[in-house]
Amino acid sequence: MEQHKNEFERHKQVWANCLQIIKDNISPDNYRTWFAPIVPVRLHDNVLTIEVPTAFFYEYLEENFIDLLRVTLRRELGIAAKLEYSVRVVTGAPSLKYPAQNKTELRNRNIPYPNPGMRNAGEIINPFAIPGLKKLEIDPQLNPNYNFGNFIEGECNRLVRSAGLTIAQDPGGTAFNPFFIHGNSGLGKTHLAQAIGIDIKEKHPEKIVLYVDANRFQTQYIDAAIKKNNVQDFLYFYQMIDVLILDDIHEFASQTKTQATFFHIFNCLHQSGKQLILTSDKAPAELQGMEERLLSRFKWGLSAELKAPDLNTRIAILKNKIYNDGIVINERVIEYLASNIKNNVRELEGTLVSLLAQSTLNKKEITIELASEMLGKLVVDSPKRKVTIQEIQKVVCGYFSISPDLIASKTRKREIVQTRQIIMYLSKLYTEYSLSTIGAQVGGKDHTTVLHACKTIRDLIDTNKAFKAHIKELEKQFN
Ligand code: ADP
Ligand code: MG
Repeated sequence: MEQHKNEFERHKQVWANCLQIIKDNISPDNYRTWFAPIVPVRLHDNVLTIEVPTAFFYEYLEENFIDLLRVTLRRELGIAAKLEYSVRVVTGAPSLKYPAQNKTELRNRNIPYPNPGMRNAGEIINPFAIPGLKKLEIDPQLNPNYNFGNFIEGECNRLVRSAGLTIAQDPGGTAFNPFFIHGNSGLGKTHLAQAIGIDIKEKHPEKIVLYVDANRFQTQYIDAAIKKNNVQDFLYFYQMIDVLILDDIHEFASQTKTQATFFHIFNCLHQSGKQLILTSDKAPAELQGMEERLLSRFKWGLSAELKAPDLNTRIAILKNKIYNDGIVINERVIEYLASNIKNNVRELEGTLVSLLAQSTLNKKEITIELASEMLGKLVVDSPKRKVTIQEIQKVVCGYFSISPDLIASKTRKREIVQTRQIIMYLSKLYTEYSLSTIGAQVGGKDHTTVLHACKTIRDLIDTNKAFKAHIKELEKQFN
């Protein structure tokens, strides 16, 4: 009887002996997280079966502790020792086959993959707590303004945008998985990644979509790691997602634990055909401080760059914003802003907002002068050319075949007056000089004359197409 009981309980003893060794070889944290929850199930012909909470768990063990497991198990059971995993099945959960990795001598059978945390369709047990998350519904954390409708198409974003639309048709079902969007700051990565999420939610409302930025993911993970057993909840939660949008993944640089955790979530989701959308300020090949295995995963799908928009796209972006905000602004001002802020859409929009605020607060009309004043303040790397008033004078006089001496003379001939005004206008636009300096240098006039000149030229540009064409032609020389 005693003998029989011992036989019956032997798997527990064997596993307990293994744990003794394992405990001495890994950190207490790892032990608590990855080994304490394991339950030995049976021992049969040198095959020890252990039960793990999720398929992810099994993967994690395989990836990180397989050598340790092999050594300890062989010590207990000899060279023929084998390990088998069984995943705790949640009642009523759909039972999917989990492909065995088969990369070790230890035997892995197909493991049923319970849809983690799901009891009945839609019912979620134990979601990882994000403030604002309800039990049955996961708030995708998407900003409704960041939709495709508001995302202006241009040469700079055509590929990324159309790949995004394709993914939204069939998330997880295209070759674009993961979809890796990279590009400099302020070029629309977050906007586009969210637009894909919004589109997916519209087309496939049943899909669980989640947007999270890398810093938040990391904070959640660290919080989970310090609280006992919460890492499992964290993992459960992320394994439920159908479309995971992880923004600014470059923030994971040198965060090895977060990277490892993300690596496993990535594998788990990717293997079950879930869509991953990642953004970064660098291309995968240029990301520093990232694990090679993670980088190689990024290259599995499509990696595409968002580039800086060209002038027409910048103008269209501003117009769209103005239209959405219900404001009217002179076209020249829009063009002026768009031609001066080239490399960052966020900055472009920011300047527009400041301009509106300035004009409202100070009851000033929105003019190019006000805009250039703003730019002087806002744009650190001022795009204004280092052109002098004399150079402008030379170019304008050359263009209209007028002798520069006439500009300085007292003549009030109409064509000379207008040439002076154009020089003043362009000097205001393309130099940092004050109105009085410009006036003094262009025919010895005072600042009110320059102000009047700027207004006259602007009006002419707005009303006279041929005149506008001349000015554009002249401006090319300074751009
Ligand atoms: P990133 O994440 O690359 O730093 P964002 O997505 O935050 O950039 O974009 C910065 C701002 O520029 C956002 O307000 C966004 O709506 C806007 N933006 C960028 N590209 C476009 C575009 N093509 N059309 C409309 N708005 C854009
Ligand atoms: Mg962003």
